[in-house]
Amino acid sequence: MVAYGEPENGQGEFRIQGVPVTRIVEEFGTPTYVYDASRLESVYRELRGLLRPEIDVFYSLKANPNVSVVRTLGRLGAGAEVSSLVELRTAQRAGISPADTLFLGPGKTEAELAACLDAGLHAIVCESLAELRQLEAAATARGLSSVDVLLRLNPDFPTKGSGLAMGGKPRQFGIDTRLLRAEKERLAALSRVRVRGVHAYMGTRFLAHGDIVHNTREVLGLAADLAADLDIDLDTVDVGGGLGVAYFDNEEDLDVQALARGLNAEADRFLRERPGCRLVLEVGRYLAALCGTYVTRVLYVKESMGSDFVVTDGGTNHHMAAVGTGSFVKRNFPLVALTRYGSPADHEYTVTGPLCTPNDVLGKKVRLPAVAPGDLIGVQRSGAYGPSASPGHFLSHGFPAEVLVHRGTPHLVRARDTAEDLLDRQRLAPL
Ligand SMILES: *Cc1c(COP(=O)(O)O)cnc(C)c1O
Repeated sequence: MVAYGEPENGQGEFRIQGVPVTRIVEEFGTPTYVYDASRLESVYRELRGLLRPEIDVFYSLKANPNVSVVRTLGRLGAGAEVSSLVELRTAQRAGISPADTLFLGPGKTEAELAACLDAGLHAIVCESLAELRQLEAAATARGLSSVDVLLRLNPDFPTKGSGLAMGGKPRQFGIDTRLLRAEKERLAALSRVRVRGVHAYMGTRFLAHGDIVHNTREVLGLAADLAADLDIDLDTVDVGGGLGVAYFDNEEDLDVQALARGLNAEADRFLRERPGCRLVLEVGRYLAALCGTYVTRVLYVKESMGSDFVVTDGGTNHHMAAVGTGSFVKRNFPLVALTRYGSPADHEYTVTGPLCTPNDVLGKKVRLPAVAPGDLIGVQRSGAYGPSASPGHFLSHGFPAEVLVHRGTPHLVRARDTAEDLLDRQRLAPL
């Protein structure tokens, strides 16, 4: 896999939009997530440009919920797929229209459903029959004559190609299609809840375009079939997504052009009989991953029983995905010496974080140039599932700073947790 850098990165230092990484950390410290807005924009623009206009791209905030990241995508026209009250508020604050927002999740609280109703979203994605009844009651209580929903399906076809399959087996997500078919009368009896379509999400980290196209074809087929069975007018079909990026040596990036060709052809076939139906592709990781670099500083270089270790100031607590805690075989995310960029990688190091656990390893046997305390080590392709998917309070280090470089200017988009931030939430009991 080719390390991500810019053409001017030849002078020994990694730059983002021409800004030397050392300048960014002088201002904001380490460890810090640095996001390149132009990279984020170009990934979105490319995908958007390849897909036919009937396919809407909704950004899944779960991948990176930073409000400035969301705004960067929202400004270009992305919709939002949110799964909590704060994600909903984030999308709103980022300026994404409620008409381009979907709320999903198997455990929506009353407060979340109420917030959805107040916001007037494109649709709430309902994950159980009980939730439909609850929503009907909430709409009645608020005097709303109609609430738009999509039914999240737990499809009964096997998923192809995902490391983390979300459907086709007993799951807390969605409604089994078999159960749904038995509920035709009850669905028809809902007077305020208006079923506008269906949703299915088959999993994450798909790297083969053929698998995504295959799953999409199955979802569209199922949608058409169920709509006929249950007398639903399909205004919207959300086909999920799960587009992956390559992290490890043996992986290859998705062929997005081939993917778009395949999806467009499926959409074409489906829309011929349903012109005007809105198709939604949910994209989190694929949009956010490439723009982000997790920047840590080398604190110590040491040897242990013949292995060279680099101990940095950040690890599992901020980047659980790179550490791969819980996975059977440790595979390395792309790691680079940001302050010795372009120098020959003629040393082998195990790069660890500061935590007091042997699992806190960012990279095992990584080829790097010789590094010394003060050097910066970056984990690339780290814009998705970073801090928000990591145990930031482990060992009480708190969450890192996040910086977005936009048109050559680094902006602090999340302040680093301070000791006061962490301690102020605790109470000393009068013991
Ligand atoms: C997590 C999730 C997404 C985003 O998945 P990515 O693989 O990051 O694109 C989209 N939809 C649903 C329902 C999800 O749970």
